[in-house]
Amino acid sequence: MGEISELLNCRMCPRECGVNRYLQTGFCRMGSELKINTWQKHFGEEPFVSGTQGSGTIFFSGCNLSCLFCQNYLISQLGHGKEYSIAQTADIMLQLQNEGVHNINLVTPTHFSLQLREALLLARKQGLTIPVVWNTNSYENVEMLKRLEGLVDIFLADFKYGTNTAASKYSQADNYFDIAAAAVNEMLRQVGHIKLDDDDIARKGLAVRLLVLPEDANSTEFILQWLAENIGNDLYISLMSQYYPTWQAAKYPETARSLNTEEYEAAVELVEKYNFENCLIQELSPSADWTPDFTI
Ligand code: SF4
Repeated sequence: MGEISELLNCRMCPRECGVNRYLQTGFCRMGSELKINTWQKHFGEEPFVSGTQGSGTIFFSGCNLSCLFCQNYLISQLGHGKEYSIAQTADIMLQLQNEGVHNINLVTPTHFSLQLREALLLARKQGLTIPVVWNTNSYENVEMLKRLEGLVDIFLADFKYGTNTAASKYSQADNYFDIAAAAVNEMLRQVGHIKLDDDDIARKGLAVRLLVLPEDANSTEFILQWLAENIGNDLYISLMSQYYPTWQAAKYPETARSLNTEEYEAAVELVEKYNFENCLIQELSPSADWTPDFTI
């Protein structure tokens, strides 16, 4: 597999670091090779993704955000994982398909978009037929998303913050809201709302995940109002209660504790206020149990 010329001056994501990924690393801390922590049949995603056979999940190392409460910090921030070529990554996808999973679920893929585009083209050529899930923090360049058109079937997109101020404080992303808003619009344009098959497994579409933070630190109502007005009430929303303080969360008092019942109930009421009918409400159970074991 030859060199990908755009990696010589990496502007793959909104960080636009401009580094030569073959020699240096930028904000995401990753070089030119795909780096994977683990891949597995995963049953912990939303039911329309995990189904009965599991989701073929591939967890990529590194991240273009730096969330101080990241529950996957061992791989996203500390970079635990091993390097794999594009051909090896395509093989992993085919192996997972052979195990009978419903889909290939690429977790935190953004900083490897160009390499994954090549891997997906190769895997499709070699017989990959199941849907591909782009499981993203939504800090994505619209132009890069357009390069994935036709290769990604399902966007499972976080919407982390309703304000740029909060995104700057907790994730070092001064323009997150504006970037994520444009990205989610592009995802909707490409795949529309979620379409389920006869077994209630998603075949195509956009779903948005919203992790509720203590003290409404990420402005849940702003997010839901924006989504209702711009993406529409047909949107599948996954409201997540699994916040717990980890990594550098002790830096601020509001992020140093778990979510309480009142805070989560307030978020659930907002989902009802904005008339989202396709909403998965996670039970309030803040615990590290939700996080797969990323040790390597
Ligand atoms: S993918 Fe990594 S190196 Fe490239 S612009 Fe984004 S953060 Fe920077």
